Amino acid sequence: MTHEKCIFCKIISSEIPSTKITENEDVLVIKDIAPKAPIHYLIIPKKHVIDVASLEENDASIASKMIFMAKTLSTDLPDEQSFRLIINNGPQAGQTVFHLHCHFIAGKKMTDF
Ligand code: AMP
Ligand code: ZN
Repeated sequence: MTHEKCIFCKIISSEIPSTKITENEDVLVIKDIAPKAPIHYLIIPKKHVIDVASLEENDASIASKMIFMAKTLSTDLPDEQSFRLIINNGPQAGQTVFHLHCHFIAGKKMTDF
């Protein structure tokens, strides 16, 4: 049975265009198509994992690779600028694309939760 690729898998394989910020062996970073802030990137692991709850023991490095990519991205922000990382897990939390991803948001004051 062929597995229907999700939208982020299609972006990773370049079947769907995206605005790429950077990538390495493990993660791709693109601009969010509907930005909620002046800087709104998506840090997407290249391995298809549905969400945080679906991570398995041998996926442990995925989470740290995503966080370290955020650290790398933060070095391009103006001096000491803050940023926020968000991972929605499940529809009730607002997840709409079911391929694990972390929102990297910066460039505005964030006071709401
Ligand atoms: P979430 O709601 O946490 O699952 O986040 C999914 C994010 O993916 C949303 O912020 C969308 O704007 C974004 N998105 C959906 N399709 C695309 C796309 N083709 N290119 C870039 N971002 C996308
Ligand atoms: Zn996928």
